Amino acid sequence: MIGKTKELLLRELRAKGLRLTPQRLVIIEVLIEMGDSHPSAHSVYDEAKKRKKGLSLSTTYATLNEFSRLGFIKTLQFDTMENRYEGNIEEHLNLVCGRCGKILDYQVPRLADPDEIARETGFSVTDTRLEYYGYCRACRGETMDGGDNRGGKEIG
Ligand SMILES: [Zn+2]
Repeated sequence: MIGKTKELLLRELRAKGLRLTPQRLVIIEVLIEMGDSHPSAHSVYDEAKKRKKGLSLSTTYATLNEFSRLGFIKTLQFDTMENRYEGNIEEHLNLVCGRCGKILDYQVPRLADPDEIARETGFSVTDTRLEYYGYCRACRGETMDGGDNRGGKEIG
């Protein structure tokens, strides 16, 4: 999930004053290995606990929230499914499958320049979230007649 090498990431985390406990190290490893699959805390936990005995789900949540707060990963909150985490913090579009919950990254050209927005409107952009809702290739076959789920409210 994280487009950086482990070494670089560890250096950045240390620079922010974060203590690299064995639990945190394991979670970082898992996040890197999960690539851009936008895992939930549960899937990170399932994998991380195999490597670190005694790791708890609440520590996993706390660690992910901490990383997110520090800007190393991004938390994606949904109304009807678990929070997901992603390491690609550059502006991009997330394609969210309303059936299986898969999220694909899609690169888009820069939509609007935050500096320009600030100049024109006085509004200071602190975060962006771009999502398209629909069905992934694997799920499309089974939902051909019900493909209108753009509101994203039926995700589950
Ligand atoms: Zn799907």
